[in-house]
Amino acid sequence: MGVAFATADAQVSRADPEYTGPDRIEEWSDRRILVVTPHPDDETFTSGGTLALLAARGNDIQVVVYTTDNAGSRDPEMTKDRLKAIRRAEEEEACRILGIPKENIHWLGHDDGMLEYVDRRELTRQVAREIRRFKPHALFSVDPGSPSEQYHKSDHRSGAIITVDAIRAARWRLYFPELEAEGFDAWSVPLVFFYYSANPNYTVDITEVAEKKARASAAHISQFGSLVDRYDPGKVDEQRKVWAARLLERAERENDRVVERFRRSEAY
Ligand SMILES: [Zn+2]
Repeated sequence: MGVAFATADAQVSRADPEYTGPDRIEEWSDRRILVVTPHPDDETFTSGGTLALLAARGNDIQVVVYTTDNAGSRDPEMTKDRLKAIRRAEEEEACRILGIPKENIHWLGHDDGMLEYVDRRELTRQVAREIRRFKPHALFSVDPGSPSEQYHKSDHRSGAIITVDAIRAARWRLYFPELEAEGFDAWSVPLVFFYYSANPNYTVDITEVAEKKARASAAHISQFGSLVDRYDPGKVDEQRKVWAARLLERAERENDRVVERFRRSEAY
């Protein structure tokens, strides 16, 4: 029993306390934000409210997507090329709703579910290049520490690790020196917000944009509901409305406020 208590204590002590300092990202304006996401829906589902708040305050938000998300359908008539086009249009619509123009979405173009089989060095270089290009004041990506991301979901597992490796490679000029030759100088990302975290320490009140986030999430309608089994374009509008209402109802709440939670990490 003593051992069990010791284990429980150790687990509790590993979690960071909630950040209560003065630097609230949701109050930023005129800064650069970079989102690096495995699939074109993860950032909407986890961070869409925070991104909508940041977009409304005039921050420059750029989104880098690892995969084209071209495999997640059970429709017997679906093809990879068609699904890739559907997912691209859905991401553009979701970003439009959040206030991010489609020109700010950058597709690395890897196959859905196959990120672990992409050359790791090349993939890290690709992301480091994007970090050095956009020079973000804050970066959003998948938490490499949560059990689901560590063990279960391949593109998340891989994307999470590659992102943190790329943050390091962006910081040191002698990692990928060819990037410096291309004009992409070293950049230290000062602040990282990890989503899908098992140890969140930062809570954003997104109540005022919760409805907007639900609509943006429902824009990814081929990812869930009946359209996963059979993609019928005639049902898209109706299903988006149904799911926007459902997602708003299911949104994470704390004291009647709708919230998003992240693991905030300084000077990564
Ligand atoms: Zn995903």
